[in-house]
Amino acid sequence: MTGSGSRLTTGPLAVVGAGQAGALLSIYLARQGHEVTLYESRPDLRRTRVGAGRSINLALATRGIVPLVDVGVIDRVDELTIPMRGRMVHAVGDPEPALHPYGSRDHEVIHSISRTDLNAILLDDAEATGRVRIEFGAELESVDFDRSLLGFAGGRTESFGVVFGADGAGSRVRAAMVGQGTCRFTTDWLDHGYKELTLPPAGSGSHRLDPNALHLWPRGEFMLIALANPTGDFTVTLFAPTATMDSLDTPDAVREFFGAEFADFAPLVPDLVEQFQANPTGPLGTMRATGWSHEDRAVLVGDAAHAIVPFHGQGMNLAMESVRALDRHLRDSPDDPAAAFRAYEIERKPDADAIADMALDNYLEMRAGVIDPDHVARRSLALELERRHPEHLSPRYNMVMFSTMPYAEARLRAERQAELLTTALDDPTVDVDGLVAALPELPALDPLADPRALSVR
Ligand SMILES: Cc1cc2nc3c(=O)[nH]c(=O)nc-3n(C[C@H](O)[C@H](O)[C@H](O)COP(=O)(O)OP(=O)(O)OC[C@H]3O[C@@H](n4cnc5c(N)ncnc54)[C@H](O)[C@@H]3O)c2cc1C
Repeated sequence: MTGSGSRLTTGPLAVVGAGQAGALLSIYLARQGHEVTLYESRPDLRRTRVGAGRSINLALATRGIVPLVDVGVIDRVDELTIPMRGRMVHAVGDPEPALHPYGSRDHEVIHSISRTDLNAILLDDAEATGRVRIEFGAELESVDFDRSLLGFAGGRTESFGVVFGADGAGSRVRAAMVGQGTCRFTTDWLDHGYKELTLPPAGSGSHRLDPNALHLWPRGEFMLIALANPTGDFTVTLFAPTATMDSLDTPDAVREFFGAEFADFAPLVPDLVEQFQANPTGPLGTMRATGWSHEDRAVLVGDAAHAIVPFHGQGMNLAMESVRALDRHLRDSPDDPAAAFRAYEIERKPDADAIADMALDNYLEMRAGVIDPDHVARRSLALELERRHPEHLSPRYNMVMFSTMPYAEARLRAERQAELLTTALDDPTVDVDGLVAALPELPALDPLADPRALSVR
């Protein structure tokens, strides 16, 4: 069977996985007029307290905001976000942390949002379309393409016309496509892991640190970050080499490590040792796949297609931007889903690969770069040149976080800009303004990326 026609309109549409990608995709499909069944292995997070599984809160940036504006949920999201204007760097030996702003323009902020709250809004909206039926506790185990059957835990089967795999980095839909010989993937594990902790509110319920910044304790080989929640607490994450994590295997080792490395942080968390011992250490990896679709029967979205390390805060933003691209390709080729799926991968694969690499680079920037004088000088010069030539130059971080230009283009531009900065810093007599003016103009923002989409409180 090849992509010969209109399967998308003839067979039941199944979306597997109700994370950000699956819930958002269901809304888009419903808006195209399709009836959708969304299968999720976990219970309904709006009714049951479900362990988030992965990070409790997420940084939302322009690429994720645009689809939320597009489907009309941005106002509800806006009520729950906390803007972060820059990194609050807690360097060793500095008496006070220092704010490194992300940019000089009002909208150059990222937004902390609870994963559960965002998912709940998307699930509500999917149901409100009247076309999306959500089945919780439905764990997909297999996809039988010949008999058009999805197999679920417990032995139940359901028929499908097209299955959308939004089931995360360990996707079963992807595994079934690998079995068909259409998809291949590799996972590169980092020799570092992460552990989440909670920094509780002060007695008054207020935040113990400035909530409007992403707090960062860079320590060279490892780092701690903290993002505020509206409930007054912070979600804190330690990223460190596996060997360091493994060495923290007794209460004394944990106390000594945090006391020595994060002296201003440790006293703020009275049950630090208990939390450290109780919470799991998560792995970090990059999953790159090729062959995101199988004929006109299956296609992957979100982490199922492209899982990246979290150091740029982009995995979800990338996932939601990809979902919007898939929606566009399906509307462009309504009678040929297989062609739409292929066009979607051709467009998004180079971007997914580019942000995967930039996310890895950003780990070094966060844990070491922000306290390296050379790096700080480069960043200051880049911001100054952006101020003087806003149509031609934007620092890499800003192109990734506050624009909608394709990630692959952002990476290419960043490479050229990096060479230019090196030239300018090596030779102060060079005509740096002339060099910047010769760079191609920056592309326009997506019209939906209105800086006022999220209020900056
Ligand atoms: C520590 C950490 C911090 C992060 N911080 C950020 C950040 O600040 N900003 C950002 O943009 N991204 C961040 N990310 C990345 C982000 O979490 C993911 O990229 C995003 O959640 C991907 O969404 P998804 O819907 O594709 O997958 P998921 O959110 O993984 O959703 C998949 C869903 O499928 C369900 N499922 C899985 N298997 C099955 C099955 N067999 N049957 C049925 N259902 C199934 C799961 O229960 C889940 O609900 C972070 C990731 C980590 C690990």
